[in-house]
Amino acid sequence: MKPDIVAVGSIALDTIKTPHAEVEDILGGSAVYFAWAASYFASVGIAGVIGPDFPQEHLKFLKRRSINLDGLKLGDKTFRWSGKYGENPDERETLSVCQDVFENFDPELPVEYRSSDYIFLANISPQLHLKVLTQVEEPKLVAGDTMNLWIETEKSELLKTLRRINMMFLNESEARQLANESNLIKAARFILSSGPKTVIIKKGENGAFVLGEDILFSIPAYPQETVRDPTGAGDSFAGGVIGFLAGASKINEENLRKAVVMGSVIASFCVEDFGLRRLEKVTKEDIDSRFEEFRHLTRF
Ligand code: AMP
Repeated sequence: MKPDIVAVGSIALDTIKTPHAEVEDILGGSAVYFAWAASYFASVGIAGVIGPDFPQEHLKFLKRRSINLDGLKLGDKTFRWSGKYGENPDERETLSVCQDVFENFDPELPVEYRSSDYIFLANISPQLHLKVLTQVEEPKLVAGDTMNLWIETEKSELLKTLRRINMMFLNESEARQLANESNLIKAARFILSSGPKTVIIKKGENGAFVLGEDILFSIPAYPQETVRDPTGAGDSFAGGVIGFLAGASKINEENLRKAVVMGSVIASFCVEDFGLRRLEKVTKEDIDSRFEEFRHLTRF
C-alpha cells in the first residue's frame, strides 16, 4: 500500500558529544527522525541506504512504529555522523561525516512509493533529491530540507531542486547563507522567489516562522528546560509539520499554523534525551497535551 508520506534522506549511526554526555553509534539520520515524528499522524515510508553493519534491532524498532522500509537499499556501509555541542544548543560542530556512503547510492523508489501524496526530501545531497523527483508521480506537496554543506558545495543543484519544492525548511543561518542576506525576512523572501510557495525558517531556541504569499506566522519555541541533545530537532520538527498536514484534510493557512506548532511540539520532546530515546516513549496524548500548552503560551 502506498504510504501517505515518502521521506528520502540519511539513515545513520550518530556519535554525539554534549556537555551532558557522549553516546556512540546510536540510531539517527534525517529520514529516521523525520519518519518517526510524522508517523504519529500519517503512514510513512523511507528511502535511503544502509550497510551490512546496520543493526537489525534498529530495523525492528522502526517497523514497530509501522514505518515502511521497502525503500531501503543495501550498500557497502552505513552513513555515520559525529557532532559536538557546546553550552549553546543551537551551535554544533561536525566532527566527522562519511559522505562517501552516498557516492554509489542511486535512489530508487519502490513502485508503491511513487504515487504518494507527500514527498519529503530530507537532508542529503540535492543531486540525490533531483533523482528522486524524477520518479514521483503527482504529489500534493514536495517539501525539502538542506544544510550548509550543500549550500557551499552544490548550490546550483540546490537551486534547481528549489524550483521543484513547494515547501522549504531551513534553519536561520542556512537561510542567510543561501540568500546571502543577513535580514531573515529578506532572506526568506529571496528563497520564496527561487521556487517554493512556503518557506519555514527554524530558529532553534527562538522558535520558527513561516513565510508564504499570503502568510507570515511566527511562534516561539517551547520553553524547554531540559535540552540534553539537540540532534534531530530540525528533522523531527519537519516530520511534525508534514505529518500533521498529511493527516489533516487539506493544506490551508489554519492547518499550516497548527502544523508548525505540532512540529515545535515534537522537536521539543526530541531534545529532551539523546537520539530517539525520548520520542520512543512519547504518546499521541503527550503530544496533544503539549500542543494545548502552546495555545496558552501564545494567547494574549
Ligand atoms: P538535525 O535535525 O539537523 O539535527 O539533523 C541531525 C541528523 O542529520 C543526524 O542524525 C545526522 O546523522 C544527519 N546528518 C548530518 N550530516 C548529514 C549529511 N551530510 N547528510 C545527511 N545527513 C546528515
